[in-house]
Amino acid sequence: MNIDGRLFTLAYGNLSAIESRPIEIKPFFHYWPGSTALTFSTWSCNFGCVWCQNWRLSKIPPEPRRSQHYSPEEIVDLAVRRSDEGLCSSFQEPTVLTDWNVQLSTLGQRRGLYSCYVSNGYMTLDALKLLRESGMDGLKIDLKGDAETYTKYCGGVDVGKVWRNAREAVSMGFHVELVNLVITDVNDEEECIAGLIERHLKEVGPKTPLHFTRYYPAYRFDNPPTKVEILEKAYETARKMGVLYPYIGNVHGHTYENTYCPNCGTWLIKRLAYRIIRYRITEEKRCPKCGYTIEITGEYVKKRSPHI
Ligand SMILES: [Zn+2]
Repeated sequence: MNIDGRLFTLAYGNLSAIESRPIEIKPFFHYWPGSTALTFSTWSCNFGCVWCQNWRLSKIPPEPRRSQHYSPEEIVDLAVRRSDEGLCSSFQEPTVLTDWNVQLSTLGQRRGLYSCYVSNGYMTLDALKLLRESGMDGLKIDLKGDAETYTKYCGGVDVGKVWRNAREAVSMGFHVELVNLVITDVNDEEECIAGLIERHLKEVGPKTPLHFTRYYPAYRFDNPPTKVEILEKAYETARKMGVLYPYIGNVHGHTYENTYCPNCGTWLIKRLAYRIIRYRITEEKRCPKCGYTIEITGEYVKKRSPHI
């Protein structure tokens, strides 16, 4: 808010939800697999997507008078008490909460907690650097589709900045995973998906995981849910074009939720509904069959009963 020429944040420590959640739900499939992150959000967003799957949090402006304020110390203590391995800003756009998250990541790092963002990737490079320097090292970016999708549905957003940030994040040392919510009759044409895969390979390279997730009607959008065949086709195209770790998401029990060795094709991680059922990557982060090195950031955490 601009008050007499000075800018104030209404979101600082003003949290709308706090919950321990499996990292696979973000989805992050190659970052601290099996772990849980204390996940939180504030209110509002810098995009205006009409199909927002979290619109109850993203479409409401922060209201300081009704705010539930939390300090970064309180959240770090809570994560440690709950035996979470990390911290995750999610549910609505975390960029809105950057000032607070920068302090949180640094405190978290001192207590051995990782920090990550589930973001639309639309922030300045200065913000991205600030986050990296604070100790954050996980960034999941949602891709809405091609330039036309962004202009038409997300309020005139420049897709080039999102790709620039994905690329720069990789070079800054973030663990990056990209997610494309495939929406019926919006961004589900073969050409649009192939273009996105091509750009993925060019900007972030074949080792960066690429998830195609299923859309369900939400907020002001009622096109039918994405056809599973379209997601399967996207997965197969990505693999053929050279993406080493493509996935599909939001399709319960699908085999394309598993991780396979890009070299010999053997299965490495079996997943079901955001849980890891079996994990076969060796301690040296290699395929047990052929020895190929698998991109995993952090360690595998075997939890008896993840809080969901
Ligand atoms: Zn292998």
